[in-house]
Amino acid sequence: MNAPASAGLGDDFIARRIAAEQVRLLYDQAPLGVAASLMVAPILAFLLWGEVPDAVLLIWLVSLTCTLAIRLLLLVAHQRRATGIEGVERWVERYIWACGATGMCWGGCVFLLALTPSLVHQIFVCLILGGVLMGGILTMTPVMTACMAYALPSMLPPALWLLLQDDLMRVTMGFTGVLYVLLALGTAHRYNRTLGQSLRLALENLDLARSCARAQEQAERSNRHLADQQAALQDNVEALREFYRSISAPRRHAGDQIQALLTMGCHRFGAATGLLARIEGDRYEIVQLISPRHLTPGEVFPLAETCCQNTLRARQPMAFDRSPAWPPRHQARHLGSPVETYLGAVVQVGGQPFGTLNFSDSRPRPAPFAAVDLELIQLMAQWVGALIDQDRTSAAIQRQHALLAHASRLNTLGEMASGLAHEINQPITAIALYTETCLARLRAGQTQPHEVRETLEKIAAQSVRTNTIIQQVRHFARQSKPQYLTVRIKDLFDDIADFLRLEMRRNRIQFHQRINPNLPPVLADPLQFQQVVLNLIRNAADAMSASEEPRVITVFARQVADEVEIGVKDTGPGVAPDILNQVLNPFFTTKPDGLGLGLSISQSIVEAHGGRLWVTPNQGPGATFHFSLPVASRVAAPERRSGDLSLEAN
Ligand code: ADP
Repeated sequence: MNAPASAGLGDDFIARRIAAEQVRLLYDQAPLGVAASLMVAPILAFLLWGEVPDAVLLIWLVSLTCTLAIRLLLLVAHQRRATGIEGVERWVERYIWACGATGMCWGGCVFLLALTPSLVHQIFVCLILGGVLMGGILTMTPVMTACMAYALPSMLPPALWLLLQDDLMRVTMGFTGVLYVLLALGTAHRYNRTLGQSLRLALENLDLARSCARAQEQAERSNRHLADQQAALQDNVEALREFYRSISAPRRHAGDQIQALLTMGCHRFGAATGLLARIEGDRYEIVQLISPRHLTPGEVFPLAETCCQNTLRARQPMAFDRSPAWPPRHQARHLGSPVETYLGAVVQVGGQPFGTLNFSDSRPRPAPFAAVDLELIQLMAQWVGALIDQDRTSAAIQRQHALLAHASRLNTLGEMASGLAHEINQPITAIALYTETCLARLRAGQTQPHEVRETLEKIAAQSVRTNTIIQQVRHFARQSKPQYLTVRIKDLFDDIADFLRLEMRRNRIQFHQRINPNLPPVLADPLQFQQVVLNLIRNAADAMSASEEPRVITVFARQVADEVEIGVKDTGPGVAPDILNQVLNPFFTTKPDGLGLGLSISQSIVEAHGGRLWVTPNQGPGATFHFSLPVASRVAAPERRSGDLSLEAN
C-alpha cells in the first residue's frame, strides 16, 4: 500500500490509508476465521446428527459452507486485484456482506437449539456459538462494521430464543450470551481504536521516515554536487596557479616564457607535443615547440595536414579526445601519426589571427577535456598573443632607441667637429712640416740617412695618431645593433681618452680619472657605454662653461654590492632643486641650443643594461651624475634581447 510520496501529508489521505490498512488486515486475518468455522461446523453437525432432523442440519451446514466459500473467494480476489487505496470501500462492503451472511448462518443455530430437546446438546451448541463469536470477532476487529455484521446476526437469535424460555438455566444462558456479545463488541471496539491509532502513528512515522530519507538523499546529492564543484574549482585554481607560475618566473625573454608555457601545457593536458604555430594562408610554420619528434622551429607544413584548420575556422578553443564527434581522425603529417588527443586555441596578435597554440598526443586521453581546460588554453593563447605583441612593440622601440642613440652620437660629433678638426689638423700640420724638412734636406743632398729616418718616424707616429682619431670618430658614428660584451670599465675609458682630452682642452678643464683597475667586468655595449660617459662629461663641461677656473671634472668607478657605479662629478653650479626631477625627462633643457635628449637617451641605455641613472648634489659646488651596471657574472652572458625570436611580423 504505497502512497505517492507527495500526497503523504494530508489528514484525509492518512485516514484513507488507515482504512486501506485495516481492510488489508481484515482480509489477511480472514483465512483463520474461515478455517475455524470450517472445522467447527462439521463437528457440531456430527454431534447433533440424529438429535435434529437431518434435512435441517444439512441445510444449515450447506448454507454456512457456502458463505464461507464466498469469503474464501473474496479473499483470493482481494489478493489478486486489490490495489492500495483504490476501491477500499468496495472490498470492505463485499466482505461485510459475506460476514453478515456467515453470521446469519451461525444465527440459524437457533433452529438447532429449538429442535434439540437435550439441555446438554443445547449447552454444547451455545459453547460452539460462543467460541465462533470470539474467534470471528478477533479476526474481524480491524473493521468494526464487519464485527457487528458478523456478531449480531450470529448471536442475537439464539440468545433471544433462550431468554424467551421459562427455564432459568436457559434464560441465564441467553442472558450470558447477550452479555458476551456486548463484551466482545466492546473489546473489539477498543482494539479497533488502538489499531487505528497505531496505524496512524506508523503511517505518520513512515511519512516522516520517508521525508527524512528524501531529505538525506537530497543532502547527499547536494553534497556530491558541492564536492564536484569544489573539485572543479580546485582544478581551476590549480590550473591558474600553474599558469601563473610558468609566466611569472623571472625570465626576460618572450621565447623562454613561451617555452615554459608549452612545458606547463604538455604537463597539464597530458600531451606529448606542444606547439606555437604561425599560420599564413595554407602555411603552418612551427615557431616554438616541445615534441618527442625531431621537429625544429621554422619548419613549414600545409595547414590542411594539421589539426588546426578547424580551430582557426572556429576562432575558439577546440578539443577532442578520441571523440567520434570530430571525424575523421587526423593524420597530422608533422607529427607523423594520427592525433587522438588535441586541444588548441587561436593566438591573436594586434586583433589579427597569428596562428595557434596547440597540444596534441597520439594516445587517447583517459578522461575528456573539461571546460576549465578550454578556458585555460584560451587564456594561454591570449597571453601568448599579448606577449608577441609586446615583443614586437619592444623590438620596434629598441629600433627607435638605436636610431635615436645614433642620431644623438652624430649630434655629439657635430658639436665636437671643430675640436676634432683641430685635433686632426695638428698631426697633419706636423706631418706636412716634417715632410718639408725631409724634402729640403734631401734636395740639398746634405742629409744623413739616420736623420731622414728620424723624421720619417715622426711622420709615421703622427699618421698613426691621425688614423687613431679618425677610427675613433668612425667607430663612434657607426650605426650598429647593440652588442653586449663582457668588458672592463678601464678599457672603455681608455678607448675614448682622445675624445675626453679634446673636450677637456677645449674647455680648459682639469680632468681626474679614479678608476680601480681591479673592478669586475660588466656586461655592456661598449659604444653605448662610451656614449653615456661622453654625454655626462660634455654636460659637466657645459655646466662649468661660465664658472671661474679651476674647473674640475672627476670620473670615478667603484663596486657597490653586485653593481659597478660610475660617477661624473663637476664643480659647476649644480642642478637647481626645482629642476632636479626634470633633468632626465626627454626634451628638458636649460641650454639655448640644447635638445634635452642627452640624459633621457643615456637613461634608457643604462636601463636597457639593467642599471639606473641618477643625480646627486655635491657637498661643495656642482653635481654628480651616477649610473650603475650589473657585474657580468650576475647577468646570463649571451642574452637574447626582445624582438630577436623570429616572432616579429615578416
Ligand atoms: P641638453 O644637454 O641638450 O640640455 P640633456 O638631457 O643632456 O640635454 O640635459 C638636460 C638638462 O640637464 C641640461 O639642459 C641642464 O640643465 C641639466 N644638466 C645636465 N647635466 C648637468 C650638470 N652636470 N650640471 C648642471 N646641470 C646639468
